[in-house]
Amino acid sequence: MEIIKDLRVMQARSGFLRQEGKAIGFVPTMGYLHEGHLTLLRRAREENDIVVLSIFVNPAQFGAGEDYEKYPRDTEGDLAKASEAGTDIAFLPEVAEMYPAGYATYVNVEGLTEKLCGRSRPGHFRGVTTVVLKLFNLVQPHRAYFGEKDYQQLVVIKKMVSDLNLDLQIIGCPTVRESDGLAMSSRNAYLSPQERLSALCLSRSLAKAEELIRGGEKSPQSIINEISKVIEKEPGAKIDYVAVCHPETLGDLESIDSQALIALAVKIGPARLLDNRLVKVNN
Ligand code: AMP
Repeated sequence: MEIIKDLRVMQARSGFLRQEGKAIGFVPTMGYLHEGHLTLLRRAREENDIVVLSIFVNPAQFGAGEDYEKYPRDTEGDLAKASEAGTDIAFLPEVAEMYPAGYATYVNVEGLTEKLCGRSRPGHFRGVTTVVLKLFNLVQPHRAYFGEKDYQQLVVIKKMVSDLNLDLQIIGCPTVRESDGLAMSSRNAYLSPQERLSALCLSRSLAKAEELIRGGEKSPQSIINEISKVIEKEPGAKIDYVAVCHPETLGDLESIDSQALIALAVKIGPARLLDNRLVKVNN
């Protein structure tokens, strides 16, 4: 596995690979790799000639007082896992090169980014789309892989790619979970054993919501109430939001008729955790 830190070297390498007719698959991450990331890498391995992984903890997507400084990092461990998963190139840009003094250009997807996580993390998605577009320009992938765990991020990136006519395919991949249902996340490292148990309320409440919808419940508010009940029972859990929305527009649904994205963000101790479930109803 080749390790590239220099932006111009990455761009030149990709340009050369494209000229050679190689299909480039790209998995952007913030590192501290777990099975969720590795599943994206393996999928990229199956579908492309060259697999590029980026590891970059992007300061532009963290708000003041958020966990940028203490975000878990383990480059050495990450490189071993990435190599094992079949990565060809690990791209590790430096903050000072991605955002040199005087950096002034940002990309913003309007509308979609004001909902769900956008409400509690203003500016977050602007940081995400900016860095992802920069990474796309450097890595020049044919396909880029993102997890459905961060569903809103996936929808926002698809919208950016479509609106800006970017020439690549965005591929969403299912959420990878621990055996007890907890969605894998680098931020799970923040949880104490007790909090780790409490965190199961996210997936449990989503399973309950799906069961109610399959049983005929059509009212988003009833679903939100039931999910809230499950979460509020858990000591140390604090709801940021619970939403029942359209999976593409992320707009609130008035009634659950064909499909619904149930999305939630919950604070468990020091960690803000996300989970979601897309429920399709057969009428
Ligand atoms: P992150 O390093 O958390 O920014 O995540 C990098 C990529 O991995 C994003 O596309 C995430 O959606 C994806 N990802 C993170 N956790 C999971 C998971 N549990 N299952 C599938 N994809 C994931």
